[in-house]
Amino acid sequence: MPEIPEIETVRYHLETKTKGKIIERVTVNRERSLNMPVRDFADLVTGQQIMNIRRRAKQIIIGLANEHSLVAHFMLEGYVRMFYYGEELIGRPSVLFSLNSGEELAFFKLNLGYIHLVPTTRLDAIPELAGLGPEPLDEGFTLDKFFELLAGRKGMIKPLLMDQEFIAGIGNVYSNETLFGSRIMPVRKVTQLADAERIKLYHCMRDILTKATQLGGVYEEKFASDDMLTGGFEQYLQVAYRTGQPCYVCGHLIETRKVAGRNAFYCPVCQK
Ligand SMILES: [Zn+2]
Repeated sequence: MPEIPEIETVRYHLETKTKGKIIERVTVNRERSLNMPVRDFADLVTGQQIMNIRRRAKQIIIGLANEHSLVAHFMLEGYVRMFYYGEELIGRPSVLFSLNSGEELAFFKLNLGYIHLVPTTRLDAIPELAGLGPEPLDEGFTLDKFFELLAGRKGMIKPLLMDQEFIAGIGNVYSNETLFGSRIMPVRKVTQLADAERIKLYHCMRDILTKATQLGGVYEEKFASDDMLTGGFEQYLQVAYRTGQPCYVCGHLIETRKVAGRNAFYCPVCQK
């Protein structure tokens, strides 16, 4: 599932390639991805200019001129791809937006994901966005704030980092990478973490998310045929999906085990 760096990369592409353009036509092949009948959705979206593109947690928010916003969540498999004028549209998108400039913006595999249309003024109140924790890359997300959030928390650290109500936008890949960078085992109890480890965790989380965002994350699906950015962080992964391969720091083989139902990747020597 895409996390902050991957969704930020999508946001960047959408902003540079679609901002200011007008949605000329909507084609819906999977009505269940929407939160209203296709006809109502098409009526509200057709003819609208794309005003801005934002991200909240793992969701993309596309602001339209008529004070409505498209809120898209890709969940496990979904992705968006833009086809330039004259390029062949490959595959069957769940939802397709045809732009007045000739491009096609295709959202694929929204089997678990969605595109919901909501009034922009109500964004904060919708269930998709309400209750999310703070953004770890926000300026206001200080070390003090992180300490406050950890205080009183129990259980293992890895599932907590992935808890969207605790911190928004981190999933399996970046919780694993952050914990390796911090030299903390995924199963460690939050209450057992020393202050020095909490400080390291805070800085590692922000450094890794920042670097991964700058390098285009680890998404496999390119945004467009000329996209050279997406997936650029994959070669920097230290533990995620590296089971059985040597640790870059100590040479011991990376191991994996289920932690709270998800695959934890870790080095049993480097991480304590
Ligand atoms: Zn190691």
